[in-house]
Amino acid sequence: MRAVTNYHIWTIGCQMNEADARRLGDELDVVGFAPAESAEDADLVVLYSCVVRQAAENKVHNQLMRLREVKRRRPDYKIVLAGCLAGEETAALQRAYPFVDLFVSPKADISLRNQILDLLDLDQRYRQEPEGAQRAPGVSAGVTIHQGCNRRCTYCIIPFRRGPERSRRPAEIRAEIEGLVQRGTREVVLLSQIVERYGWDLQPRTTLAELLTLLNEIEGLERIRFLTSYPVDFGTDLIEAVATLPKVCEDINLPIQAGDDTVLRRMARGYKVADYLRLVEALRARIAEVAISTDIIVGFPGETAAQFENTLRVMEQVRWDVVHVAMYSPRPGTVAATWPDDVPKAEKKRRLHAVEELQREIAAQINARLVGRTVEVLVEGQKDGKWYGRTRSNKLTFFPHPEPLAGELVQVRITEASPWALQGELVRRQPAAPRPTQIPLYLSA
Ligand code: SAH
Repeated sequence: MRAVTNYHIWTIGCQMNEADARRLGDELDVVGFAPAESAEDADLVVLYSCVVRQAAENKVHNQLMRLREVKRRRPDYKIVLAGCLAGEETAALQRAYPFVDLFVSPKADISLRNQILDLLDLDQRYRQEPEGAQRAPGVSAGVTIHQGCNRRCTYCIIPFRRGPERSRRPAEIRAEIEGLVQRGTREVVLLSQIVERYGWDLQPRTTLAELLTLLNEIEGLERIRFLTSYPVDFGTDLIEAVATLPKVCEDINLPIQAGDDTVLRRMARGYKVADYLRLVEALRARIAEVAISTDIIVGFPGETAAQFENTLRVMEQVRWDVVHVAMYSPRPGTVAATWPDDVPKAEKKRRLHAVEELQREIAAQINARLVGRTVEVLVEGQKDGKWYGRTRSNKLTFFPHPEPLAGELVQVRITEASPWALQGELVRRQPAAPRPTQIPLYLSA
């Protein structure tokens, strides 16, 4: 008998990495591995890396250097590099990180678990789940439904690292989610870099709206979210699905990246500000109380102060619930990286802070309107003596209560709001009556 292999998974970057890490952890548990407290305590460490900006790439590099030291002392130590850094050419990676045992490109579809078992030279692939080894996954779990991206936004490295678009089959996704629900998951976040294009590559072709309809039927699942949306592909059928399917939350992540048409064209985003605004209008007209969040890049090559001001103006027009803002970071291999990175760092910082400052005001106003109202919260855990969870619109909500509540849907009356979170008190320990059924538009005509 072999001793139990202890693994440690380290992740950075997007929710897709987190979802893949969670899934790998579940798969390793099933074949009898055990999670270790830290990378140093493990026999095997898997890094889910990110290269979307230089800062993330630096952190991955530092982590790899730390692990190299561990491996010096323990030659049996196994290091696996997954995520977007591993999407680079393998020969280059082997030169840079010769001590890494396995590079698993996000372009590949082969099970990472099987590759790890091969690496450790074990054949436990078909072993039954040991007694009591079921790790309870989180109340809310990410599930990757679609990998890769076919677009070529000029700043973005993801298509080069994650490869072309591939959809997972609806039945496989459904089975994974049913398994999660059995182990306590109440909410899933369906993940893709460009989620509206889910299913377009499958035979027979399917759509995200159809997948949502299928998943809406899973008993015990309470909420479904999906991200990330792309402003060009968000169709009427999807708007209808969000408006009418009771489990699908009114929460849309719709990156705009810039509020200026010239910058958008140079980013090769394929839409104009007016197109984006029309979509927001359509979402708000059809989906009651829809929350919309966005991503913005400041200091893109050639972005003038006036073009940046246009982004601030669009922020005031749209009034997003949440804005994720980042300073442009050139990524070698992308088109934009061949252009001069001509907005000075200090100016990028100024723009970043201007976005953050304006968003703080807008979010404070949006959230203040919730004070006095009772909202449904899915309790995810405890922090500083309070329970916390999220509303359907994805607002973090804290409230005190003496009894255990994790995984429950509860009613919370909001007493206080900040730009980042809500505070409240428990009203009832049961969900609200289901949303009044809205008749799909195509039937009501
Ligand atoms: N398809 C995903 C992309 C994920 S990357 C999406 O549309 O969200 C997440 C965010 O990182 C992007 O939305 C973008 O705002 C930011 N980003 C991507 N490349 C970047 C770069 N080179 N510099 C700065 N921010 C970048």
